[in-house]
Amino acid sequence: MNFNDTPDEAKFRTEARAFLEANAKRRTPGSAPSRNVDRDDEVIKTAKAWQAKKLASGFAAITWPKEIGGRGGTPIQQIIYAQEEAQFVTPPGVFDIGLGMCIPTLVKHGSSEHAARFVKPALKGDEIWCQLFSEPVAGSDVAGIRTRAKRDGDNWVVNGQKVWTTGAHFCDFGLLLVRTDPDVSKHKGLTMFFVDMKSKGVEARPIKQVSGGAEFNEVFFTDVVIPDSQRLGKVGDGWTVALTTLMNERLAVGIATGILGVDDFLTLARSSDIDGEPAIRNGAIRDRLAQFFVEAEGLKYTRYRMWTALSRGETPGPQSSINKVVSGRMMQDLGSLAMEVMGEASLMTGEGPGGGAFQRQWLGAAGFRIAGGTDEILRNIIAERVLGLPSDVRVDKDTTFAELEAKRSKR
Ligand SMILES: Cc1cc2nc3c(=O)[nH]c(=O)nc-3n(C[C@H](O)[C@H](O)[C@H](O)COP(=O)(O)OP(=O)(O)OC[C@H]3O[C@@H](n4cnc5c(N)ncnc54)[C@H](O)[C@@H]3O)c2cc1C
Repeated sequence: MNFNDTPDEAKFRTEARAFLEANAKRRTPGSAPSRNVDRDDEVIKTAKAWQAKKLASGFAAITWPKEIGGRGGTPIQQIIYAQEEAQFVTPPGVFDIGLGMCIPTLVKHGSSEHAARFVKPALKGDEIWCQLFSEPVAGSDVAGIRTRAKRDGDNWVVNGQKVWTTGAHFCDFGLLLVRTDPDVSKHKGLTMFFVDMKSKGVEARPIKQVSGGAEFNEVFFTDVVIPDSQRLGKVGDGWTVALTTLMNERLAVGIATGILGVDDFLTLARSSDIDGEPAIRNGAIRDRLAQFFVEAEGLKYTRYRMWTALSRGETPGPQSSINKVVSGRMMQDLGSLAMEVMGEASLMTGEGPGGGAFQRQWLGAAGFRIAGGTDEILRNIIAERVLGLPSDVRVDKDTTFAELEAKRSKR
């Protein structure tokens, strides 16, 4: 493990910090920027303007090759930039899914024409992408999707429903996983397309969240026509294409930053009272704080291990799963304790540090523990790949999807 930047990494960090100092406001403890992406057009406009600025300064796509508009940098530079950006107030990440997952999938599995048409507008922030994978009966087991595409000459006709699609209401394009053959095993009958979200027959319906926002959608497809030229990869090879997206997702959630941590809680505990004394002097609070500190240190070194691997040009192992399982729970517990310290004020969504940043963190933590792999799925990965325990039972491996559906409907 190496905790220090190499000279090149230090130079890049200085450059990134200078860009951020010149273009954004430094965040103060407790004032985590809201990463919520709701239905506010102004928020989208601000995010687009920020993205264009990042592109002009070489920070929009750090690891992408120069030929497609990237910086040609390293994954560790990407992480350094994310670490630095987390210390500033920046618009919500409306491009995270598109640039982190969809466009890399398009570049890897699409044609050179696809790349020439779609990469630049996405990088510049002119076009936003979403991920249309999950369905009401297929989330952790995404290969169980039912949305069907049937061939019709040079086109495909799509019918079905997706759910939890982040940002579908403001996105221009979506990466769409569909079933094209139900008569083979579930992983083999899938095909990947991209779809224009303004196509006839695509309807995004908002899902209202406990926080009051509505970042997600159910997306219905009714006889939506998609040209075969919008297929990514071969017919029936959608699972391979989806794995590219999911690998990128795992890495992205593993390095997620921009949440309130121990320092933010310390600031709150120093400035709040319990029984007429500063909360920081309360024994029970100090006990919990010590536990958070230990966990945060463990996470820090787990991340260092991951970043050292990246810095050496290696692919990080399942550390990102460990990181997400622990940080998701900690995010929720820390938000909850902060709200206890705040007392009644925590019942108001806009009250307290950062205009309700702890409340937002607590409300959003449950979703964070599900998105990009639930706690249980990540524990399965850790059990199998780190601890070498026997693998999860997969009873449906040698059955066709149609047979699975028939069995399901008899239950
Ligand atoms: C904030 C957020 C954003 C999202 N954005 C998107 C998006 O943009 N696009 C998209 O396509 N999807 C998105 N999703 C959906 C997300 O991918 C799924 O919610 C996730 O994969 C879990 O699937 P599910 O909700 O169907 O739960 P299920 O898979 O039905 O799981 C239900 C419960 O069973 C457990 N479980 C399932 N399988 C196993 C197993 N093998 N072993 C042990 N336990 C198991 C799970 O851990 C969970 O507790 C988003 C979700 C959230 C919360």
